[in-house]
Amino acid sequence: MKRRAFLGLGAASGASLILPTSCASPASNQKVSNQVNGPFVISTWNPAAANAAAWEGLKDDGYVLDAIEAGIRIEEENPNNTTVGIGGAPDRDGHVTLDACIMNEKGDAGSVVFLEDVVYPISVARQVMENSPHVILAGQGAQQFAFNNGFAKTNLLTEKSKEAWAKWLVKAEYQPIINIEMHDTIGMIAKDAQGRISGGCSTSGLAYKMRGRVGDSPIIGSGLFVDGEVGAATATGLGEEVIKTVGSFLMVELMRQGYSPQAAAEEAIGRIVAKKGGEKPNFQVGYICFNTKGEIGAYSIHPGFGYVLNSETDNGYIAADSFFKKE
Ligand code: ASP
Repeated sequence: MKRRAFLGLGAASGASLILPTSCASPASNQKVSNQVNGPFVISTWNPAAANAAAWEGLKDDGYVLDAIEAGIRIEEENPNNTTVGIGGAPDRDGHVTLDACIMNEKGDAGSVVFLEDVVYPISVARQVMENSPHVILAGQGAQQFAFNNGFAKTNLLTEKSKEAWAKWLVKAEYQPIINIEMHDTIGMIAKDAQGRISGGCSTSGLAYKMRGRVGDSPIIGSGLFVDGEVGAATATGLGEEVIKTVGSFLMVELMRQGYSPQAAAEEAIGRIVAKKGGEKPNFQVGYICFNTKGEIGAYSIHPGFGYVLNSETDNGYIAADSFFKKE
């Protein structure tokens, strides 16, 4: 890794960095990763309030899974976030359908897909994990499960999202064109003071998708994967491409084999690009991951991606862009 890129990340983060064994020519699977001591939480993009809420739950020795749920709920209930929860962009027929999943430090998992009229899919996913014999519940069954567990029925289509959809309808003539601009899914992964790690991922999916479309976000291994002995990873961007390469599982598996988190994120992005013949495709995917040592990696197909970090010493957005300077 070039010194300029190394310094760029350090300056942006204010976090301490781990030097590779050989600074001059780190092995390709040992790229420099940002490292954080103690408990921390990171989220895709920059949902500062959500990440800060999760940190509140972590900093006084709270349980990491509670922190993940509390943090993600902040974005799910925010009507101004048009990619998560209430206020999320609808499908091409005007229905808001939500996807979410959660994993704990033991590798237990819960997921809801195509959930309608419920504000907090991350909490429903946790209920699926803890109070059902299953991992994934879909559609009306997921909704019924949510109502049976006390979740309120709520219209998720806000006036703002409805207006934007109406404008899109006129312009796009109902074509299910992949929207490459809107990708602010919240993927949140964290480690608590006891070293337990967990993660969650929540989204309304691609704006104006075909009805019934499910992306990577609620798919265990694609949008999120946690292995308490190795690390955690989560994804954002064009879910169809993440699913085809099982991106989050891939990152954790690479870390298990000794890759640094940064090398794992870059390799996982590289797999997507390689499938497109090596040319950078016209869509975005962004990955973040960390290992149990607290080393963090982040990478994306195109510049413009980053993550927000809260820990005892850090509090802010870290652009993954510094890594692109080496290209
Ligand atoms: N990954 C999400 C999906 O494909 C989209 C996003 O990241 O906003 O549903």
